[in-house]
Amino acid sequence: MINKDQFADNHFIRNIIDEDLAAQRAVRIITRFPPEPNGYLHIGHAKSICLNFGLAYIYDGFCNLRFDDTNPEKESDEYVRAIKEDVQWLGFQWHEEHFASDYFETLYQYAIELIQAGKAYVDDLDAEEIRRYRGTLTEAGKNSPYRERSIEENLDLFQRMRSGEFPDGSKTLRLKIDMASGNINLRDPVIYRIRRVHHHRTADDWVIYPMYDYTHAISDALERVTHSLCTLEFEAHRPLYDWVVENISIDNHPHQYEFSRLELLYSITSKRKLNQLVSENHVSGWDDPRMPTISGMRRRGYTPEGLRLFSKRVGISKSENVVDMSVLEGAIREDLENTAPRMMAVLNPIKVELINYDEALTQSRSAPYHPNHPEFGEREVPVSKNLYIEADDFSLDPPAGWQRLTLGGEVRLRYSYVIKCEEAVQDSSGRVVLLKCSIDHDTLGKKPEGRKVKGVIHWLSAKHAVRTTVRLYDRLFTESRPDAVRGADGQYRPFTEFLNPNSMTEINAWVEPVANTLPPESRYQFERLGYFVTDRYDHSAEKPIFNRTVTLRDTWLPEK
Ligand code: ATP
Ligand code: MG
Repeated sequence: MINKDQFADNHFIRNIIDEDLAAQRAVRIITRFPPEPNGYLHIGHAKSICLNFGLAYIYDGFCNLRFDDTNPEKESDEYVRAIKEDVQWLGFQWHEEHFASDYFETLYQYAIELIQAGKAYVDDLDAEEIRRYRGTLTEAGKNSPYRERSIEENLDLFQRMRSGEFPDGSKTLRLKIDMASGNINLRDPVIYRIRRVHHHRTADDWVIYPMYDYTHAISDALERVTHSLCTLEFEAHRPLYDWVVENISIDNHPHQYEFSRLELLYSITSKRKLNQLVSENHVSGWDDPRMPTISGMRRRGYTPEGLRLFSKRVGISKSENVVDMSVLEGAIREDLENTAPRMMAVLNPIKVELINYDEALTQSRSAPYHPNHPEFGEREVPVSKNLYIEADDFSLDPPAGWQRLTLGGEVRLRYSYVIKCEEAVQDSSGRVVLLKCSIDHDTLGKKPEGRKVKGVIHWLSAKHAVRTTVRLYDRLFTESRPDAVRGADGQYRPFTEFLNPNSMTEINAWVEPVANTLPPESRYQFERLGYFVTDRYDHSAEKPIFNRTVTLRDTWLPEK
C-alpha cells in the first residue's frame, strides 16, 4: 500500500509548497504528469511520476495525467495505452485524464485573443530564415519584416492558416515579445506551425498545430495546476511560460519549478534512443527485460514498491542526478528480500547419486517459503536417490577455506541431510559427471555427531525437479555512459556500438515442482542464486520460463 512516507522528503519543492500553503497562495495542490505519447515510459519518468503523484498524496491534493500530444508524427494510441498501464502498475491513479489535443480549439481562441491584443503575428519567414533572424547568445535577433502587420491582416491570415489555404511551413504564428531579449526563448517564439499530419486523436481536423511551450503553459492553467514540475532543461523556458499565462485572459497562474533529470549509468534515459533500440531490433521490444522502460523492468521482475523506493532514494534537487545501476538494483533487492518466497533451483547441474538411499529410512521435510514470514506457508522438499546440485558447488581440487563439496568432504543439503562425497566419476576427458555420495541418516534436523559441517548447498531431487528455461540478464551496455563516448575525431560515437553482447543468455535449468503451478509474473528467490520472475508473456505452468531479475549481491565493480 502506498503511504506518504514512501516519497522523497525535505526537498526544495516541498518547501515551496509548504510556504505556498502557509501563505494561502494555494489551497489544494494540483500537479500533473505530462508525458508525450511518443514512446514508453522509462526510469526517468518513474522519478517524475513518483514526484508528482507523491506530492498529491502528501498534501492530499490531486495529480492529473496529461498527454502532451502536439507532435502528431511521432505519437500513437499504443503509447497512450502503455503509459496509462505503466502509471497504474507503479501504483498511481490520476485524478483527471487530459489530452493537450482536447484543448486545440481553446488554444486557437487564445491565439486569436493574443493577435487582437497586438501580441502575436503571422510570419512568412521560413524555418531557416527564422533561425537566421533569431540571433545568438551574444547577438540580438532582428525583427521579421512581417512583424508589424495589422491586427486585421493577422486575424485574416491566421484564420486562413487554419482553413488550409497555405502550404506546410509557409507561415507561422509568433508571439511578439522581444527580438533582443537575453533569453532566446523570448525572441518572438513560434506558437503555431502549418503541418498536414494525421493526429492520433483529432485525425485530420487540424492543419495547424500549437507548439509545446504555448500549449503546456495554457494546459496547466486550464487544469488549475498549482505546481508545474519539469526537468531543468526547461528552466530557460520559464519566462515564456509565465509570459503566456500572464498575457491570456485566464485567472489562474500556475508556476513552474525545475528539478534535475535522472540519468542511470549503463543505461539510457531518452525515449528517442530507446525507440532506436526497438526499431533497429537490438532488443525484442519496448518491454524487453533489459530495457530501462517501466514495462521492461516490470517484465524483468522489478516491483512497483522497489521502483518507488528507488525514486525516494535518488531524491529531488537541482544538482546532477547521475545514479549507478547498483542503487536501482539495491532498492529492488531490498523489496524482494522481504516479499519473494524462496525456492531452490539448479542452473548448472551435476548429478549426485545417494548410494545408501533407502526409501524406508530417508525422509523428506517441508521448508518455509520465507524465513521471516511463516504466513507464506511451507512446501515439501522431496529427497530421492538421484539429486542435482550446482556444478560450482563441487571441486576436486578446492582452494583453501572451501566450504562446499569435495571428494571425501561433507556438506548439508539445505533443509535435509548431511552428505559425504565418496567418489567422483569422471568421463574420458576428465570432467566430473557424477558424484556418488552417502547420507548420514542421523542428521535430519540435527547437527552431525562429533564434527562440524559448515557448508550448506542447494539441491533438487532429480525425480521431482521441473525442467525450465531461465533467461539470465545483464546490463545492456558495456559503457557507463553509452551516449556520451567520443571518438578520436571528437564526435559522439553511436551508442549502439556499446551494446553488451552478453546481456541475455538463455539456459535450461531445474527448479522445484511448484514451478508447474505458477502464473506469469510470480517472483521467487532461488536460494543462493538471485531473484527470478516467471515471464509475463512467454511463461506457462506447463512450460515455465523464469527471468533473472537481479543477483543476490552486487557482482559489478563500480567504476574507478
Ligand atoms: P525523453 O527525452 O525521454 O523523451 P521527455 O522529457 O521528452 O523525455 P516527456 O514525455 O516529455 O519526456 O516527459 C514527461 C515528464 O517526465 C516531463 O515532466 C519530464 O520532465 C519528465 N522526465 C522525463 N525524463 C526524465 C528523467 N530522466 N528524469 C526525471 N524526469 C523526467
Ligand atoms: Mg519530450
